[in-house]
Amino acid sequence: AAKRLGGACYCFYAAGMDGDTREQLDLLRDLRHAVERNQLELYFQPKIDARSGEVTAAEALLRWHHPTRGMVSPVIFIPIAERFGFMRELGNWVIDAACRQAQVWRESGLRMRVAINLSAQQMRQADIVDRIQKALEASRMHPTLLTCEITESVVMENTQAIQDTFRRLGELGVHLSIDDFGTGYSSLSYLRQLPAQELKVDRAFVTDLVASADARAVVDAVIRLAHALGLRVVAEGVETQGQQQVLVAMGCDELQGYLFARPMSAQAILLWAMDDKNSAPAFRASLFGDT
Ligand code: C2E
Ligand code: MG
Ligand code: MG
Ligand code: MG
Repeated sequence: AAKRLGGACYCFYAAGMDGDTREQLDLLRDLRHAVERNQLELYFQPKIDARSGEVTAAEALLRWHHPTRGMVSPVIFIPIAERFGFMRELGNWVIDAACRQAQVWRESGLRMRVAINLSAQQMRQADIVDRIQKALEASRMHPTLLTCEITESVVMENTQAIQDTFRRLGELGVHLSIDDFGTGYSSLSYLRQLPAQELKVDRAFVTDLVASADARAVVDAVIRLAHALGLRVVAEGVETQGQQQVLVAMGCDELQGYLFARPMSAQAILLWAMDDKNSAPAFRASLFGDT
């Protein structure tokens, strides 16, 4: 009877499990070995000073080279890692790799901040601040040269654990950035209390900037609010010169997007940043039309 019950339970479980979940479990099984099999890589996408055109920072974006599926997007595997308790290992790997890379660039004479993304689970991880501190020490990196990007909806989550982590990161001295701003529902009074230095306007608003007066009004208001609170504003997902011009006119501080560079390997961004055509004068010429 027990055996039959077991069988029945299995069938029920299998039938109740949708295709997406089975797919997720397949990926999770492979993801568990991704670190030890060296399948992870950090790509980096520059942030550009909107006025001078200089590279200010490089945002680390995780890539997974799956042996048979090819490159799997973080949009797919990060939610799986989050759901099945595996983000800690991935996240710790990212922290160490990003700090090591920052040290290599520094030794090559490249001065730019490095940004990492922290997920909801990482913000709940009890030892996350210690892990970041250890990685900074191991690569002799000053805390203020690291930016931690945290999605607005996670920052606004009103839990003690996340608020504590946010505060302790601020005390450590790393810069804090509110990512994907505009997608969550921020309390403006709460925003005022946060020890953040940067706010990233979500790509959705940037995409609609030229066609939609509403999107322009929102971005304009966000930039004014952020500046009034002493935050720098970064626009993500800038793809056209039209968007760039509107953002510069509104006083946006930094720009990031395919218009300037796609996320690329550590080696590629080093070459990119040292290439004259990506330096300030060429940027100014393209912006103001004075060759
Ligand atoms: P995010 O932090 O908001 O990163 C921006 C995403 O937009 C990146 O996608 C980037 O490649 C993409 N992007 C940049 N410029 C453009 C553009 O001009 N047009 C378009 N269409 N897209 C652009 P990616 O690399 O696929 O990462 C997606 C998300 O996955 C990230 O969003 C972040 O939330 C998460 N993620 C990536 N790497 C990590 C990581 O190491 N740790 C954590 N916790 N999350 C990560
Ligand atoms: Mg980000
Ligand atoms: Mg973002
Ligand atoms: Mg985003």
